[in-house]
Amino acid sequence: MSQAKLNVVVLEVTRNALDLIYAACRQCYSEEFAGSIMRAAVDGSKKSLFVRKIVASGHDSPLEHAKFTFAVEGVSRALTHQLVRHRLASYSQQSQRYVKEDSFDYVVPPAIENDRVLKQEFVSVMGAIQQSYNRLREAIRASGVSAEKANEDARFVLPQAAETKVVVTMNCRELLHFFRLRCCSRAQWEIKALADRMLELCRRELPEVFSAAGAKCRGLGYCPEGEKFTCGKYPLRK
Ligand SMILES: Cc1cc2nc3c(=O)[nH]c(=O)nc-3n(C[C@H](O)[C@H](O)[C@H](O)COP(=O)(O)OP(=O)(O)OC[C@H]3O[C@@H](n4cnc5c(N)ncnc54)[C@H](O)[C@@H]3O)c2cc1C
Repeated sequence: MSQAKLNVVVLEVTRNALDLIYAACRQCYSEEFAGSIMRAAVDGSKKSLFVRKIVASGHDSPLEHAKFTFAVEGVSRALTHQLVRHRLASYSQQSQRYVKEDSFDYVVPPAIENDRVLKQEFVSVMGAIQQSYNRLREAIRASGVSAEKANEDARFVLPQAAETKVVVTMNCRELLHFFRLRCCSRAQWEIKALADRMLELCRRELPEVFSAAGAKCRGLGYCPEGEKFTCGKYPLRK
């Protein structure tokens, strides 16, 4: 019931992602056909270096051809509400219509988790919401409507803390953008934890693209957030 439950699994990465990005990049500068470049025996370290240079140069469009699909669980609906604001991605989220929430789990923010009194209040409210949800759902069901319809209306009392599961697919260009925004210390703690974990997994799979990725300050060399919001890791823009 806390952020410790965050679980992120890579379901799939584009097959031969480095070869694909390399072929797409080379297509821009070569008389050759990408169909041949993709199949040509090119030294792996040459490909790596080429792709690293392209990424550093900001020539991002070839990165759109390779994508990652993640399964995410142990996160709140507050998190997924922010996540789905990233429009250049695909999502499949556990439904509160088709899956009843008669024993819903929830995420507890660290500031509440670490304070005995606040935690007590939080847990007690979650319990009350659960009871209310169950009562409403049963009463709506008793009026003769389907389980799906009852879930659909009873869920209106569920909290943003309610846990959810989501599958998300982003291409590498969008991932770099997502990390620039969400690995920043200004991002909300839960989505930052998710972004940090996704970045770790991306680095493992495709270091040529992701080794230098992260919050926008990493690429810029300064913090654009201003005096009020900066974490102080990088100097402010002059
Ligand atoms: C610290 C922080 C605080 C935030 N606070 C708030 C808040 O208070 N309220 C709020 O509503 N949101 C807030 N957001 C969400 C934010 O405004 C964006 O909706 C979210 O981060 C998704 O970013 P994006 O639009 O760049 O991403 P994506 O949707 O993934 O888009 C990627 C990029 O594609 C381009 N693009 C996509 N769609 C369009 C389009 N229709 N037109 C032109 N260009 C497009 C843009 O260049 C965009 O940056 C916050 C985000 C952060 C990181």
